[in-house]
Amino acid sequence: MNQSKYMILGGGMVAGYAAKELVERGMKSGELTILSADNAIPYERPPLSKSFLAGKDDEKSIRINAEEFYGQHGIEVKLSCEVAGVDARQKTVHLQSGEDLGFEKLIVATGAQVKTLTIPGANLGDVYYLRSMEDSKKIRTRAGDAKRAAVIGGGFIAMEVSAVLAQKGIETTMLIREDRIWKQVFTPAMSKFFEDYYSARGVRLVKQTNLTELKGDSAVKSVALEDGRTVGCDMVVAGIGVSPVTEPIANSGMQIANGIVVNEYLETSVPGIHAAGDVANYQDTLFNKRRRVEHWDNAVSQGQYCARALSGERKAFSHVPYFFSDVFDLSYEFWGDPANADQIVERGDLSTSSFSVWWLQQKRVIAAFVMSRPDEERDAATKWIESKQQVSAEKLKGKSSVSDAEESAS
Ligand code: NAP
Repeated sequence: MNQSKYMILGGGMVAGYAAKELVERGMKSGELTILSADNAIPYERPPLSKSFLAGKDDEKSIRINAEEFYGQHGIEVKLSCEVAGVDARQKTVHLQSGEDLGFEKLIVATGAQVKTLTIPGANLGDVYYLRSMEDSKKIRTRAGDAKRAAVIGGGFIAMEVSAVLAQKGIETTMLIREDRIWKQVFTPAMSKFFEDYYSARGVRLVKQTNLTELKGDSAVKSVALEDGRTVGCDMVVAGIGVSPVTEPIANSGMQIANGIVVNEYLETSVPGIHAAGDVANYQDTLFNKRRRVEHWDNAVSQGQYCARALSGERKAFSHVPYFFSDVFDLSYEFWGDPANADQIVERGDLSTSSFSVWWLQQKRVIAAFVMSRPDEERDAATKWIESKQQVSAEKLKGKSSVSDAEESAS
């Protein structure tokens, strides 16, 4: 049986960044094996719904490490590799092909898979989901000659894909269940800003709507809505969320609950096995709660963290949750967790694209959204959330430097 010192189950961003970090820390040739269900070496996922989809990036430019990197450092990457199960006691991974592979230390980074529509017509052609590079290529190709698109959802994928399709000149309709765009995170004023921005750029938004059927012969031609309306289209892209991939480790003894349960060291319930990225339900020491984060930054920082842990470092994972998005000509960033906010402060002008929003809990900053603002606001966001900084909401609303809003704890 082939034996590896380190093994990563999952060939996504965690694997790419962990491999890079292990190499920088002096890992020897032949020590790492990556098992990937994908058919491509680890790549960055954010461009798939942005620049790659728009045709401004290609396969090579979104790779985390160059193709030669893996060979040069003696890292084996098994692509299109289907894992049947993990025997945690025997430290063995069983492949569908019948092969068994041994490991000393394992990082489980199986990621997440898209949720799919279950309404009649969901299996028609030209209905797309976006998770992998292959998915993005298919949407890009179909968008080459589509005239009308229906985009289902009001979250990340729907917002980013709609912006790209509209910029390709495709008549794009967003079908949103909620009464406003991205209600889970945006305040009503933020939703209004983005809705106006999208509408002004030709995207039609149909809100508070449920779909009943996708219609067409072999390929989708329209989406039927509950209120009797139909939306004609040449393609549908559904961005309706993801769920963690835990099937490969189902009977391994690792605790599973909303992903793989890990502690603040990203250790699973089985010694010698870490989990990281979209699949890891970890103990967040900053907010003192469990969370599973499905963002690029989380995969990068947890991948790097696990590499350090495998190299012998032991320090709890402490990180401010973060994501960014680019839509049309806008770029914004978000830090923290607004869940328990008791006050929201807006700064700048929400009728322009330069504003920031601050979520406070008992005067302490717990989350921030920043778009086209001075660097000091970006810098303050992470620093304040990490240090649980107390601020004056009145001063934060004003025009002077954000640092003027800092208050010492009472
Ligand atoms: P998402 O952000 O969770 O949004 C899902 C959306 O789909 C919500 O608006 C939800 O509405 C709606 N929805 C769910 N089930 C539906 C149904 N059956 N019919 C109609 N609408 C439905 O998920 P996503 O946009 O699909 O993104 C997938 C993953 O990729 C996420 O983990 C995200 O973090 C990641 N991603 C991140 C970025 C970034 O960080 N910039 C960019 C792209 C993707 P309700 O509120 O009504 O449930």
